[in-house]
Amino acid sequence: TKAKPWLSHYPEEISPQIDYGERPLFDYLREAAEKHPDKSAIYFMGKEMTYRDLYNESLKLAQQLTVHGLKKGDRLAIMLPNSPQSVIAYYAALMVGGIVVQTNPLYMERELQHQLSDSGAKMIVCLDQVYPRVRNVQSKTSLETIIVTGVQDYLPLTKKLLYPIASKTKIPKKREFQNVKDVFLFTELIKKGVTDFVPEHISPEEDLALLQYTGGTTGFAKGVMLTHRNLIANTEQSRMWQYRHEYGKDTILGVLPFFHVYGMTIVMNLSIMHLSKMIIVPRFEAGEVLKMIEKLRPTVFSGAPTMYIALINHPDIQKYDLSSIKTCISGSAPLPLEVQQRFEQLTGGKLVEGYGLTEASPVTHCNLIWGERILGSIGIPYPDTEAKIVSPETGEELGLKEVGELVVKGPQVMKGYWNRPEETAQVLKEGWLFTGDMAYMDEKGYFYIVDRKKDMILASGFNIYPREVEEVLYEHPDVKEAAVVGVHDHYRGETVKAFVVAKDGRALTEEELNRHCRKYLAAYKVPKIYEFRKDLPKSTIGKILKRELLKDEDRRSS
Ligand code: AMP
Repeated sequence: TKAKPWLSHYPEEISPQIDYGERPLFDYLREAAEKHPDKSAIYFMGKEMTYRDLYNESLKLAQQLTVHGLKKGDRLAIMLPNSPQSVIAYYAALMVGGIVVQTNPLYMERELQHQLSDSGAKMIVCLDQVYPRVRNVQSKTSLETIIVTGVQDYLPLTKKLLYPIASKTKIPKKREFQNVKDVFLFTELIKKGVTDFVPEHISPEEDLALLQYTGGTTGFAKGVMLTHRNLIANTEQSRMWQYRHEYGKDTILGVLPFFHVYGMTIVMNLSIMHLSKMIIVPRFEAGEVLKMIEKLRPTVFSGAPTMYIALINHPDIQKYDLSSIKTCISGSAPLPLEVQQRFEQLTGGKLVEGYGLTEASPVTHCNLIWGERILGSIGIPYPDTEAKIVSPETGEELGLKEVGELVVKGPQVMKGYWNRPEETAQVLKEGWLFTGDMAYMDEKGYFYIVDRKKDMILASGFNIYPREVEEVLYEHPDVKEAAVVGVHDHYRGETVKAFVVAKDGRALTEEELNRHCRKYLAAYKVPKIYEFRKDLPKSTIGKILKRELLKDEDRRSS
């Protein structure tokens, strides 16, 4: 590569290289628990848990996971909203040498089945509310053991439940899974577990910690293989970037979902590595979050742009004292300028934009918190991270301000896609990860994202792959053709729009398609806008021309 102009912008405390040691990820939890056992690790709806307890509960569960047959290299799925159990299950699985498969608790059976069978997960730790879904797909997967927990398991009895899942979802009665031979209660395993469990030996560079599913233009999601080293590297890089404040002095607001790699690294793992207190929030609701900030005084609050937008537009924002907030990283989608400025005015803290993708654990770029930040830019590469812009046609490195594909290299870059050597070879070439994002670099070494090469729709920070939604639409007996695109939405960034052609003589309604999609897709993937057409524009070989559809879209909205 050519010069790395960004290096000259690093403040003194950020070294361009980091020594990650030979530790497994869970060793940070051990260290925290041994050195600071009484320090509060977790705050969850009125209840605190110390580092000692968090470590011991993880050890106990790890021991029980081995009793029930989990071995090094086995996959364990987690299907939980942010909760103490989601942290304990994650660290316990890693201690056994297991590979965690994070599953969104909003997934419907079809999505769940794909992840479980593709990953070959042997066990799952899930929320009681999603148990019926897990049960229904089990026979089509390699799942042998189901561990069930309720959000209320870690709540003081008096607390009103803030369920992240639609309240109309029925909670199964305990007896439905009691005395079922392959189902175990989380709380009972913790009771039975012992703390003298010796964690498995891990080779951090080789051993996988995570299969994190992410879509692609090829339809169903692929499992991104992330090693212990990948996750440690990205957490250490982020810690160095974000913290000037002393070790052990921070409180992190954990609103980003831990089942997404961004929340996992930037909130959960970073909080433990930096001996912080993590306030676990199972569901984002602006009014609740404002109350929490005033009462619990978090110093760090990383999120997605839509969260900051919702907060600054809350009618009562002026009434709250938000002055505890010191640093925030916004990622996953572009951060609008007004939002950044307004949020900083309201809190007095710093909000900077970063960039990343699942394949890089996820962060590769960020604006400096104490140094130059450029609005509209994703910032400069993290320590130990190289980045360049290459021509999508020739693969050659491009010059300053020339738009091409962003490619990155660093210790946070994945090992590949699980069981998909061809897809891996398409994006990983000689250690360089091809991000699929079009970008350019300026003379200072700051990068700017211009467009996405891939077709993905990004709504409220959620990735939606049109192909998957289209497949569901096509399964409706009255649908002849369907094309799904992302259209501009001032709140979500983008929203899902479906163009649908009904079969001759059939009358299709929006309600009917909605009902159909909701059966098979998580709510955020269900189209918000439908347009019925007599036909769709196509290329000579019959491929639907999405660009044409989008062109019409722009004309109409302008
Ligand atoms: P994911 O794999 O779910 O983390 O999604 C990664 C994708 O999100 C990237 O490839 C980008 O297209 C997009 N993305 C992440 N951060 C930003 C940002 N700051 N600005 C624009 N797009 C972003």
